[in-house]
Amino acid sequence: MRIASVVGTRPQLIKAAVLQPLLRARHDEVFIDTGQHYDEALAGAFVGELGLAPPDYQLGVGGGSATEQTAAMLSRLEPILAAERPEVVIVYGDTNSTLAGSIAAAQLRLPVAHVEAGLRSFDRRMPEEINRVIADHLATWAFAPTPTAVENLAAEGRTRGVHLVGDLMQDLAARLSAEVRDPAVLGPIELRLAAQSAGLRLRPGRYLFATVHRAENRQPAALRAWAELLGGVASEARPVILALHPGTAAALDAAGVRLAPAVRVIEPQGYRTTLALQLHAAAVLTDSGGVQREAAWLGVPCLVLRSATEWLEAVADSGGRMVVVGLDATRAAAELDRLAPADRAESIARDRATGLRLEPAGAAAAIVAALEEGVGSRESAS
Ligand code: UDP
Repeated sequence: MRIASVVGTRPQLIKAAVLQPLLRARHDEVFIDTGQHYDEALAGAFVGELGLAPPDYQLGVGGGSATEQTAAMLSRLEPILAAERPEVVIVYGDTNSTLAGSIAAAQLRLPVAHVEAGLRSFDRRMPEEINRVIADHLATWAFAPTPTAVENLAAEGRTRGVHLVGDLMQDLAARLSAEVRDPAVLGPIELRLAAQSAGLRLRPGRYLFATVHRAENRQPAALRAWAELLGGVASEARPVILALHPGTAAALDAAGVRLAPAVRVIEPQGYRTTLALQLHAAAVLTDSGGVQREAAWLGVPCLVLRSATEWLEAVADSGGRMVVVGLDATRAAAELDRLAPADRAESIARDRATGLRLEPAGAAAAIVAALEEGVGSRESAS
């Protein structure tokens, strides 16, 4: 089979890193990076860390508005896909790269496979929601990570070509969680982070880990609200470690919003470091879809800094450890008291790491098997 994979952002590089080895074991893959995330910490680092092949095409389309980006990607993708003629074009998630990959392929009559299909926030103000809906309806294969995603697709009349395959990110977290289970991994991370945040100490259960990057949380009022929320739960004894996305950093700067001193800002981190920082934290605060699920798989309390989540199963299966708090500072503080009380958070974190057993979802194998079957039957029908 000849496959083209289109990626562009951090979570897409991470997902591609799980699927790529299985694809390449039996098939030809043309790997296309749109360059949507062009920052080294957001993109480049993952290629080396997760063993991704270097892209065959680097489109270099970073920056600009969503429309400008999508348009530039479309015009660069078209001649590449037309020349390569893959039997399937794989797109991931819900970004501009997903949208452009889907449209460019569909216009060339190339079948699209959408990984992470069927997620819905039911909020069309989110750019991601628009991208998902379009990608799902252009796709020949809709690879859904959860039963809710399958139901969402059915509610929109989409049942053919829908495959419930589980979550690729779980495959990766399961594979690498053993490497970060021992709290001793925090030592070298602490040393490395000293250059970014002087005097930062990392002890299991004695810090909170946070990420914030969604467009809705880059608006001035939202920036002020979550900055206050993080400042309210951070203390010298239990700082918030905020792995700050460069887009969010720029938005904070532009709005003149300052973070409290106990909110320790660090650069975006590599995958293993992020997994380790989550596992050994007292709790995670995030608006990231990936970080939410990882926290759920690791069993770490997680406050979701959004008004809704697409990951209903993660909340339902968390035994109350995952809570959608929005930007409500009072609620966030109360949930942290309940889920990670300061006097017990360290022993809770140590027990969690010791008892961690995370199984892979088998999503990568299920996707490859469905494509092999589907492409084979399309060929024999033509
Ligand atoms: N991540 C990372 N470094 C960081 C923050 C996040 O490696 O500093 C990882 C995280 O562990 C998860 C993925 O990036 O695997 C989530 O990506 P992101 O939050 O950018 O996007 P989303 O999941 O919201 O689409």
